[in-house]
Amino acid sequence: MPRVFNFSAGPATLPETVLRQAADEMLDWHGSGMSVMEMSHRGKEFIAIHAEAESLLRELMGIPANYKVLFLQGGAIGENAIVPMNMLRGRASADYVDTGEWSKNSIKEAKRYARVNVAASSEKDGYTRIPPQQEWKLDPGAAYVHICSNETIGGVEYHWTPELGEVPLVADMSSNFISRPIDVSRYGLIYAGTQKNVGPAGATIVIVRDDLIGQALPVTPSAFDYKTQADNDSMFNTPPTYTIYIAGLVFRWIRQQGGLPAIEASNRRKAALLYDHLATTSFFYNPVAAADRSLMNVPFKLRDESLDEAFLKGAQERGMVQLKGHRSVGGMRASIYNAMPIEGVAALVAYMKDFEARHG
Ligand SMILES: *Cc1c(COP(=O)(O)O)cnc(C)c1O
Repeated sequence: MPRVFNFSAGPATLPETVLRQAADEMLDWHGSGMSVMEMSHRGKEFIAIHAEAESLLRELMGIPANYKVLFLQGGAIGENAIVPMNMLRGRASADYVDTGEWSKNSIKEAKRYARVNVAASSEKDGYTRIPPQQEWKLDPGAAYVHICSNETIGGVEYHWTPELGEVPLVADMSSNFISRPIDVSRYGLIYAGTQKNVGPAGATIVIVRDDLIGQALPVTPSAFDYKTQADNDSMFNTPPTYTIYIAGLVFRWIRQQGGLPAIEASNRRKAALLYDHLATTSFFYNPVAAADRSLMNVPFKLRDESLDEAFLKGAQERGMVQLKGHRSVGGMRASIYNAMPIEGVAALVAYMKDFEARHG
């Protein structure tokens, strides 16, 4: 069976060269006589793998020296609780901007630990836009402002960075992490689950400015106290070792592609293929405001929903899988993360044209 074009929202497609290298190294990593999966996290081999993954990520993103990079467990949903536990820092409230399913999730979880002020919401617009900062009603006492930089389900993405002065900006970047260059110094904390753009599921990457850590709520589990983890190089407990290894291979692959500027150019070309086609047809549509469309997750619907099943079946037959939209919104969704080759997007657009010609 040849490899399919996998449009899954996550766990998601990975670069084929990375998978081949991992296969080559499966039984014997660099003459160690064992698999990375079998290594002690405290042995010199794994310590080197971990250090290299961190240093590659620092180089790709230009992470300033006063930021800690942590590889934790718990996923982004776990982080929704871990963030308020660590980031309230003696304050009672936090601002959240509600742009879709994932920010709603973050808000619900944060309410267990903090007084949450929803500073802005696009719920009334069906989550089809990012509320501009002029619309935000920020709480002057808030410990931080939380955004979801890319709504994986709704397909809306920030193409700008909020300006908050002294108040730390916290971003759930799970689905657009390392998809383009960003200025890390404009954020207090960035978190991302690995299974979208980084590697297999299992790790959560946290990038946090070092002056913000060390004041976690007393109830915070030690394994989720950023200070404890930072002081132990993310090895207070056993880290997700194999995921960190694959993440390192993916970071190296990105460097070989030309780093994040080249990745962004490729992501823009891929997204443009799909959005430009959607602009030419009324057979399919995407409801998101043009300025806020995601480069990573492209939801689209067929005007005639009774054709959904036939569309998915035909796609599957042509080697394109996981195009079904999230159960909460229906329709289709093409996730076109860094590792999706442009040939996959071109094949999808060709199939959409063909399907419309036969059913339109
Ligand atoms: C996938 C995703 C999550 C959930 O991640 P888990 O690993 O299931 O905890 C949260 N936020 C965003 C933006 C996501 O894309």
